[in-house]
Amino acid sequence: MAVTKEEQQQTEPAGHKELAHKSLLQSDALYQYILDTSVHPREHECQKQLREMTEKHPRNIMATPPDEGQLLSMLIKLMNAKNAMEIGVYTGYSLLSTALALPSDGKILAMDINREYYDLGLPIIEKAGVAHKIDFREGPALPVLDDLLKDENNKGSFDFIFVDADKDNYLNYHKRVIDLVRIGGLIGYDNTLWNGSVVAPPDAPLAGYIRRLRGHVLELNKYLAQDSRIEICQLPVGDGITLCRRII
Ligand code: SAM
Ligand code: CA
Repeated sequence: MAVTKEEQQQTEPAGHKELAHKSLLQSDALYQYILDTSVHPREHECQKQLREMTEKHPRNIMATPPDEGQLLSMLIKLMNAKNAMEIGVYTGYSLLSTALALPSDGKILAMDINREYYDLGLPIIEKAGVAHKIDFREGPALPVLDDLLKDENNKGSFDFIFVDADKDNYLNYHKRVIDLVRIGGLIGYDNTLWNGSVVAPPDAPLAGYIRRLRGHVLELNKYLAQDSRIEICQLPVGDGITLCRRII
């Protein structure tokens, strides 16, 4: 007997209703369950404020979701990281998560081409009492990395590096941060499942920016998978995060 479209919809798991969803999980309900049960009750009051402020911003699609912030925080604490770096700050949700997780004498070098975004979150970061850990640099990140590499003392000096900026530069970032992170340290590349588009057929109706940068994400994923200097683990948290532990 032929199955009607309605019957078919009823038997299929509920998919995401919003295109700009913050998780790749197949069901909104399951993601909401994780947020309600394990993430929101544990969120720092200032993280909550920063998240809610950012939700009203027109470019809020760029923000790190709170379950991913929780993952970053857990990793930083497990590693006893002290010296961190972030490329791509926006209003600062991942930065605040990192700064809260670092010890009081911890440091995070944070870079973004747009200081206006950072300034939106800064009063909340200050209120959280962690602004003293942050060294914010406005401008493109690549020249800052090149400058750091000129001083041998900076090589292998970072415990934790989170890369969440222009996807077409990720391989350029990798070439540099691999020498700045210590052996045993961690680099996290964000958005490596790129809205699920890494498996999209050629004729899939993708948003312009997703289509434009998809090739760069695919290239990065291939590169990381064969890079013998690191161990990797690609997690379907947020929009996909690939953790790279430097081994040589
Ligand atoms: N990690 C942020 C958070 O938790 O909300 C989200 C970062 S957002 C996805 C990407 C950021 O990268 C934007 O704020 C953008 O201004 C910044 N960006 C883009 N190109 C950059 C570059 N070449 N150097 C530094 N930052 C850049
Ligand atoms: Ca991101």
